[in-house]
Amino acid sequence: MDTKKRLSEIIKRLKKEYPEPKTALNFKNPFELLVATVLSAQTTDVHVNKVTEKLFQKYKSVKDFADTPLVTLKKNISSINFYNNKAKNIQASAKMIIEKFNSRVPKTMEELVILPGVARKTANIVLSNAYGINEGIAVDTHVKRLSYRLGLTKHEDPVKIERDLIAITPKEDWENISHLLIFHGRKLCQAKKPNHSECVLYDICPSKDI
Ligand code: SF4
Repeated sequence: MDTKKRLSEIIKRLKKEYPEPKTALNFKNPFELLVATVLSAQTTDVHVNKVTEKLFQKYKSVKDFADTPLVTLKKNISSINFYNNKAKNIQASAKMIIEKFNSRVPKTMEELVILPGVARKTANIVLSNAYGINEGIAVDTHVKRLSYRLGLTKHEDPVKIERDLIAITPKEDWENISHLLIFHGRKLCQAKKPNHSECVLYDICPSKDI
């Protein structure tokens, strides 16, 4: 089976396992998703949701995030890994969105990646989940690991992995593939102990013996 056909089989099987592939982060608008995604680096979605539940009650608009004293914002997210940098980036992004983009989170990759702390992964997540725009494939640590184990890429660099996935994934599944690999990575194909014997991809996975 060539890689494209195998990927199509992987998507088919994972869609059966995870019928609702969407982000586990809670948000009510594009800026909240941007904030939640920035916070989620090196932090679980469950913990991010706990923190943002209170955070989004306190800060209701982009302006609220821009105007608050940085030290207060840091305090409000201090249980999150790397909160210092994340607070700085969130506030700088809020200010830039107000000044350059008329207080709206931009809808293009080129504009999103100039926001402080926003790289392609975050931009892809915001575009697909908040705006329904598939401009690329979000590659996080799970997508990176599973793409490699499943033989969909030979690369370790997220930008090259994204390029490889784009080349073999139908555009309508660009958002799905990311969520499906994330769900499967969390549930079964974990970094340290992949549970091969329970895996629906066992017979088509080149890494089932690792
Ligand atoms: S067979 Fe093992 S390595 Fe392959 S996807 Fe499943 S859990 Fe991961």
